[in-house]
Amino acid sequence: MDVVHSATARAATAEPYTCAKCGYSGVGHAVAIEKATMKQGGLVFGNDRAGEMARDEAEARAWSEAMSDVAMAPCPRCGATDAAAWRSWITRPAYLLNLAIAIVTFLAGGLACSAVLTAANLLSVVCAGVIGLGFIVAGPLLVVLPLVGKRTSTRRVRFEPPR
Ligand SMILES: [Zn+2]
Repeated sequence: MDVVHSATARAATAEPYTCAKCGYSGVGHAVAIEKATMKQGGLVFGNDRAGEMARDEAEARAWSEAMSDVAMAPCPRCGATDAAAWRSWITRPAYLLNLAIAIVTFLAGGLACSAVLTAANLLSVVCAGVIGLGFIVAGPLLVVLPLVGKRTSTRRVRFEPPR
């Protein structure tokens, strides 16, 4: 009995923005939409607040992404980005967990590829090779894609005044 609750939340925020490089000061507007899922679990030890928790989690994520979008956005006047804001986004638990999964995926790919050398027949050679290469490619993508996505969303931040 695995009931999974999922929720989507949207947050729109206006955060003050100051550039340390050129002294630009204004307000950045960002919008973020985030999803969250929560397992309800079994009937006996199940969590009947799972639906509510999924909504809370989605809301919290959307707000934190919208707010960090502004902090991590390039300055509208000189284009400088705040390295400290990026550093704190990269070192948050959600991204570090992703990094750990990526490393495991990458290693599993390497393991499957090395199985190619010891595989007895052609089919298992092809099988191990395809799976291995897939995992080796998927590992780094798990790290890079969130970064690229974040970079794209920081570029959507609207600034007032525009420069
Ligand atoms: Zn600037």
